[in-house]
Amino acid sequence: MHGEDPLSPEHLARVSAGLGVEARLVQTLPGGDINRAALIDAAGEPVFVKWNADPVDRMFACEAEGLSALRDAHTLRVPKVRAIGPDFLAMEYIASATAAPDFDEKLGRGLAALHRVRGLRFGFHQDGVLGVVPQPNAWADSWVAFYRHRRVEPLAAEAERRGSLSGATLKTLRQVTSRLGSLIPAGPAPSRLHGDLWSGNVMASETGDPVLVDPAVFHGHREMDLAMTELFGGFSPRFYAAYREAWPLEPGYERRREVYQIVPLLIHVILFGGPYEHQLRACLSRLS
Ligand code: ADP
Repeated sequence: MHGEDPLSPEHLARVSAGLGVEARLVQTLPGGDINRAALIDAAGEPVFVKWNADPVDRMFACEAEGLSALRDAHTLRVPKVRAIGPDFLAMEYIASATAAPDFDEKLGRGLAALHRVRGLRFGFHQDGVLGVVPQPNAWADSWVAFYRHRRVEPLAAEAERRGSLSGATLKTLRQVTSRLGSLIPAGPAPSRLHGDLWSGNVMASETGDPVLVDPAVFHGHREMDLAMTELFGGFSPRFYAAYREAWPLEPGYERRREVYQIVPLLIHVILFGGPYEHQLRACLSRLS
C-alpha cells in the first residue's frame, strides 16, 4: 500500500495536461497493491487518479483498454476513462457507499451478462499487464493452447526466472500442465472476462450498485473469473446463485476451478512470493 504518498506537482501537471483542465489535488486515497491513488478536482468534476513513479511499460494504457472493453459490454458499471499517460490513469470517480440489498444478485447477473459477450477467439487485441506481470493475449483458436502457452507456461517461466518456485513445485506444475487437454475444454465460449476478479476490484457505487475496477481483460473460459472469486473469498452465496441462475455452470466446474486457480496463484507467487507457493502446491496436489 502507498496511501501516504501525495501526488507530486509534476504528476498533477501531467494529469491536468491529459484532462485539458487545471486539476487540483483534493485528497490522497489508499492505493492498491501496486499503484498510488488520489481524488482530484478537474474544473468541478471529481476524478480518480492512479499513478506509479516506476510504471511497467503500457500498464495504464492496458488498463484503460480493459475498462473500455468492459464498458462496451453495457452490463455492470465501469468507470469512464478521462485521461491516460505512461505513468497515470485518470477516470470517473466512484463515490463509494454501502452496498444495496440486491448488490450481490446484480453482481452475479451482471457478470453472467458480461460473460455472454464473446470474442471470436481466445485472447484480446493487445497484450496486458496484471499487477506488474505481463499478460500475453495473442489470439488462439484452442482454449487449451491459450491457457497453456499464454498463461501457465510464461508465468511458470517468470516465477522460475525469479527463483520464486522450488524445483519440486515446478516439476508438479509441468506434470499438471502436460495434462491440461484432459482437464479443461478445448472450445468453451470465449467470454469477455474481467481477468482479475477479487473482491477488492468490485466497488459499491453511490447508489450501492456494483462497479468493476482494475481489470485485466481478455476472452477466455468464464470459469476463470469465477475460480478467481473463490480463491480469496469475499463473494456471497447469493452472488453465485444469481450467476448460476442467469447462466448455469457445466458439470465438473469444481475440478476445473483448481486448474484455473493455478494462474492467479502463480501471479501471486511472482508478485508476493513465499506463502502463495504453499497454496499453489496444495492446489497442484489436488490435481495430481
Ligand atoms: P491497483 O492497481 O494498485 O490495485 P486499484 O485500481 O485496485 O489499484 O485501486 C485501488 C483502490 O482504489 C480500489 O480498491 C478502490 O477502492 C479504489 N478505486 C479504484 N477505482 C476507483 C474509482 N474510479 N473511484 C474511486 N475509487 C476507486
